[in-house]
Amino acid sequence: MAAQAAGAHLIEAPMRNDSFDLEAILAAIDSKTRIIFLANPNNPTGTVLEPAVVERFVAQVPGHVVVVLDEAYYEFAQHFATLRAVSYSKSLDYVRQGASVVVLRTFSKAHGLAGLRVGYGLGPAELLGYCARMRNTFSVSSVAQAAAVAALDDDKHLQRVVENNAIQSRDLSQGLSALGYRVVPTAANFLYCDLKEEAAAVAERLQNEGVAVRPLGPWGAPRCIRVTIGTPEQNQIFLNAMRRLGSSVERVGSRA
Ligand SMILES: *Cc1c(COP(=O)(O)O)cnc(C)c1O
Repeated sequence: MAAQAAGAHLIEAPMRNDSFDLEAILAAIDSKTRIIFLANPNNPTGTVLEPAVVERFVAQVPGHVVVVLDEAYYEFAQHFATLRAVSYSKSLDYVRQGASVVVLRTFSKAHGLAGLRVGYGLGPAELLGYCARMRNTFSVSSVAQAAAVAALDDDKHLQRVVENNAIQSRDLSQGLSALGYRVVPTAANFLYCDLKEEAAAVAERLQNEGVAVRPLGPWGAPRCIRVTIGTPEQNQIFLNAMRRLGSSVERVGSRA
């Protein structure tokens, strides 16, 4: 939508193993390419790219192209990486080294401030200077700025959120797997789940039970949903609903 609004031509590259195919993206670059947009972790798959892979990619992208690394789920991914004893992202190193890279972060996700519309970008000063000129005067309200500054100091909130998310992602994944669905390991605060049947119909049945999930037809994955990881109570309501009416067809796995 953003590309369209800017009058730009959007080139899509196919996914591989539920994640970005960086080879395919490199192959799609031409002299007119201006921006490559990578969400890391990705939405809606929750997958994350290894730092070494991103580093090699950034080094191979020609100089006339800006690589945007969207780290909206940074705090969740950082916590998962710590638990899994891997490293998540070295994005700020590329910025410090003067690479043609912009890193985006937001207060909308782990900080829970989506309604205040505040986030930030880190990148080359000249490039961000052009972005600053495009902003209107009150694009980030004073209330949003005050909340963002306060949020940066609220370590206890962040800790509670990312810990709940990691524990609940495990329980929710196990629950869905036990019902016979395929769940992709997540580094974010949602799960990408292959229902192996028309997801829009399942989403509609869930909606009638008061559970909202995102069917991913518009993302090119008509048999998959994205479900946000909630509180233990919310996740149990979702799993119970899936057990009752998740499927009209038989799947492998237990339905007890
Ligand atoms: C939520 C999200 C954002 C940030 O959204 P804002 O509320 O506009 O800050 C950015 N990228 C991805 C991939 C997201 O899921």
